[in-house]
Amino acid sequence: MNSTVLHARRLARLTGMLLAGAVVVASAADTDVLIRNAMVFDGTGRAPFAASVLVQDGRIAAIGDGLKAPAHTRQVDAKGHALLPGLFDLHTHWTPNAQPATLPQIATRYLAAGVTTVSDFHQPPEAYAPRRAWLHSIAAPDVKFAARMSTPLGHGADWGDESTTRWVNSPEAATAAVKAVAAYQPDFIKAFTDGWRYSNAADNSSMDEETLAALVAQAHRQQLRVFTHTVMVKRGKTAARAGVDALAHSVQDGPADAELIALMKQHGTRYAPSLAVYLPERVDGSGKARAGTEAYRQREANFANALHNVKTLHDAGIPIVLGTDAGMTGTPHGESTLRELELFVQAGLTPTEALLAGTRDSAEALALDDRGRIEVGKRADLLLVRGRPWERISDVRNTEQVYVAGRQVVGKGVRLPAGNRATALPPRAIDALVDDFERGDQRTALDTLRNDDADGGNDRTVQVTAVIDREQGGKALSMQARLSSKDDAHAAVILPLTRGSVAPADLRRWHGVRVDVRADATLRLEARGLEGRRWSAPLAASGSWQTLEIPFTALQGQPPYRTKGPLPAWRGDDVQQLLFSGTGTPGKTIWFEIDNVRFY
Ligand SMILES: [Zn+2]
Repeated sequence: MNSTVLHARRLARLTGMLLAGAVVVASAADTDVLIRNAMVFDGTGRAPFAASVLVQDGRIAAIGDGLKAPAHTRQVDAKGHALLPGLFDLHTHWTPNAQPATLPQIATRYLAAGVTTVSDFHQPPEAYAPRRAWLHSIAAPDVKFAARMSTPLGHGADWGDESTTRWVNSPEAATAAVKAVAAYQPDFIKAFTDGWRYSNAADNSSMDEETLAALVAQAHRQQLRVFTHTVMVKRGKTAARAGVDALAHSVQDGPADAELIALMKQHGTRYAPSLAVYLPERVDGSGKARAGTEAYRQREANFANALHNVKTLHDAGIPIVLGTDAGMTGTPHGESTLRELELFVQAGLTPTEALLAGTRDSAEALALDDRGRIEVGKRADLLLVRGRPWERISDVRNTEQVYVAGRQVVGKGVRLPAGNRATALPPRAIDALVDDFERGDQRTALDTLRNDDADGGNDRTVQVTAVIDREQGGKALSMQARLSSKDDAHAAVILPLTRGSVAPADLRRWHGVRVDVRADATLRLEARGLEGRRWSAPLAASGSWQTLEIPFTALQGQPPYRTKGPLPAWRGDDVQQLLFSGTGTPGKTIWFEIDNVRFY
């Protein structure tokens, strides 16, 4: 690489930071620090040793005995403390149903646990860029985004739309899907290859080996690693043969057998067992209420298999790596990562082996060569704790200080940016015209990607949405669906008001929504906002075009999803999406057409 290229890259990076509105352009003086006389667990496998570690410009500059601090370098006396590489969690879901729920709260929780690299499996590709910008504007771990792939009717495709989770069921479709999501620059791919879930839910359709192999081949051509949702021994073999880089769950329907071990060794498959999400009592203890039930006994049996298989695969030389499935029920962010390390030890790994799994080997699983060890030149992602966690794993909970790329984010006197205390981005002013469907690229007039939304599960509504020509000229959106036979059968079109529905829109200068519409369906307008808030109103549409105006005052707050709570009041500064949702007789077809959606 010549110096012009280097300079151009630096400039691009700087511009990127400015565009992201970053407040974290730390000067050298902020990040240069000498951590003196720590016991260093360097993540290479070497026994812990007493040394000082010099951090400059976000990287580890020197490691050694009696290092002198250069001018303007802060010093930390770490005598008697353990210094480790920052921890990893390669499998998390940053969802509005998680504990905690919002992006800054989740980021802060990981930092407090010493977790400096986190993979988020939950976001639609449209959300990567706005979420990356948001993360850059606060103190946060380095978050890697997985692009989601499943099969039609598969696990992971049973919520959300095809823009969130691509559906593939042939090698050609898999290749095309990887190419399509690569444009959004995901950090890796999550494939839901095993339709079976956790023993007591439906066995949805699985991805066949040829499709998975094509998916992996295309991903590797694009330098993307592939993790799979795999929970059965049989499916673990399929995944290994197809060349996936890591199983992101426990195989738990029985003991790992010689064939699975041989295949994983032959193909270099890693194992991220997510023990935390399978713990029968759950990490937050909420599962205890179900003790004694048939479902609980099934969870206990699965978990015994899961623990056994971690030990078996580890002893066979398969790299164990750390991913928890945090964000799922009873599996809180940050706390679950630390629990996973303890569960590795419960499964039979030594504390040292557990720490290597959560640092060095997890970095390797995502091909992150710049971290995972304390070595000169690596990112200064560091965790300082009291005690000797390589002897007693729970000492990783005794957090004293945490550094992300040299910047101290946890410790006495550390003040995080105000953005870490906010629960949302500031509301954005947007234009009145939401969508006139005239663009040729499936995007709204606000430059956001339209989505479909229908009931999920094996018996699900089949929906086709298309831009069509209107008789009087111009284009409109047409939605047709054959409803499932379920009571909640519905088909909707989502118009995000901001990119990826990440920031809220500020609608307070308008009175309501105007839309041209005709339909053969029972139609509603819904607005969705921060923290799962929803409001909706009926739309009195008929078979011929008419222009309707729905004042915001007509929108009624809806009950929170799957929890109890008060109905949300309309504020107008926390809305992220408009939805047009049709229902009708289960099993029958419905249609609606909309045009010129705007605020008035
Ligand atoms: Zn998951």
